[in-house]
Amino acid sequence: MTVSLTVPVHDRNPLVAARSQLADAIGLLDLGHGMLDMLATPRREVTVSVPLRRDDGSVEVLVGHRVQHNLSRGPAKGGVRFSPDVSLDEVRALAMWMTWKCALVNIPYGGAKGGVAFDPRVYSRGEIQRVTRRYTSEIMPILGPTTDIPAPDIGTDEQVMSWMMDTYSVNRGHTVLGVVTGKPVALGGSLGRASATSRGVVHVALAALAHRGIAVRGASAAVQGFGKVGRDAALLLAEAGARVVAVSDQYGAVHDPDGLDVPALAHHVDATGSVVGFAASEPMDAGDDLLFLDLDLLVPAAVEAVLNADNAHRVRASVVAEGANGPTTPAADAVLADAGVLVVPDILANAGGVIVSYFEWVQANQAYWWSEDDVNARLAERMQAAWEAVVACAARRDISLRRAATTLAVETVANAHLARGLYP
Ligand code: GLU
Repeated sequence: MTVSLTVPVHDRNPLVAARSQLADAIGLLDLGHGMLDMLATPRREVTVSVPLRRDDGSVEVLVGHRVQHNLSRGPAKGGVRFSPDVSLDEVRALAMWMTWKCALVNIPYGGAKGGVAFDPRVYSRGEIQRVTRRYTSEIMPILGPTTDIPAPDIGTDEQVMSWMMDTYSVNRGHTVLGVVTGKPVALGGSLGRASATSRGVVHVALAALAHRGIAVRGASAAVQGFGKVGRDAALLLAEAGARVVAVSDQYGAVHDPDGLDVPALAHHVDATGSVVGFAASEPMDAGDDLLFLDLDLLVPAAVEAVLNADNAHRVRASVVAEGANGPTTPAADAVLADAGVLVVPDILANAGGVIVSYFEWVQANQAYWWSEDDVNARLAERMQAAWEAVVACAARRDISLRRAATTLAVETVANAHLARGLYP
């Protein structure tokens, strides 16, 4: 049986992409329209006004969202994004992807996502703190360590998580470490959390190269984005012996066919705020050009829909490991599959972040902290298990890694839902 949602075909709308991936998995699993409708629709959505007193005394009203996509397997879990591109549809899609990600790597959470539509780069630290605290207060009725646990995402960091944790705790009257993850280590954060997403991306990227028979030593790689995910991914790839030939950020891209000195590039970014102007490299004309280099490995680690119907035919990488959420649209997925590009999907490739978020939550709830080696070993174990399960499912069903990953995750969530039954 094949079921499909009647959704408009906007290739770059992440919610359209997420729903079409879900519909495909429901069809493969023969689960029917009821389950499709149930899983296509978030369980809860909250949209809030976030009034902000600016440093100059004026008042501006921002809009924030928190969407809980699914709660069948445990509390809702997912990041908070501060970006001018935040919209309810984007948050819905990202929340759905969190549900699949948590199910795929077998951690006991449903999916959530949140965001405030503003550009934190043009606001002061004080203003960002006020936005964070007011947003947290507004969504507090649905937050909690057993109900919904935020984490960092684009535009937020461990400082923002500290303010969220503090706002929640002050209002509750006691310290609640388990209400957010991605906190600083000084405040109950987990060792290894900061680089966990990158570590997971590199773990599966190396597995995918091996799967393709490509030796890591000297393999050419490019990384789009030099933020929370791309930076450590580039450093770890270089450490593993890969030749990182190009890296980009929102301001531009740098290129060296012999391989960039990534630690030196990281120092340059610390000093100047961008990869642009890194002396030991050539600038690229347009930041996006690195997506189309002749590569063994491409790691899109920035935003959604960068590989889309208009440009997917230009990709010349053997392996794409998705550090970002939703970087490849369904139309691009089809083009890349036809071209024989091995795409390691986001819900597998970037799951390391939420895996170590789960470890942070477990540690906070037990008030007992693990060593960094222990965290990294447990992370690698879960990434490896998920990679093997996805590869086996893809081979068994003769489908892409994305379809396999989504199908496994949807099956896990559907089984939990069916075991609980429909109330009332
Ligand atoms: N924002 C990250 C993601 O998209 C981490 C989420 C979390 O740790 O809850 O996976």
